[in-house]
Amino acid sequence: MHCVAFRTALSARVDGEELPPEVSGAALDAHLRECAECAHWGDRARRLKLLTAGLGGGGPDGDGTYGI
Ligand SMILES: [Zn+2]
Repeated sequence: MHCVAFRTALSARVDGEELPPEVSGAALDAHLRECAECAHWGDRARRLKLLTAGLGGGGPDGDGTYGI
């Protein structure tokens, strides 16, 4: 399966949505273990999600810096 299919699934997971039917959670986890690029992409997506979520209601630690 192509990386793009896993990234679609990863994006859904980050957003708290259901994974596409063609990608199981186990298959996604297995791919992330062997594909550094997708693992890195997932990290970025998660961080971006946190940052954009923070824009609405302040950071989880109250200062909005997230340690950056
Ligand atoms: Zn990949």
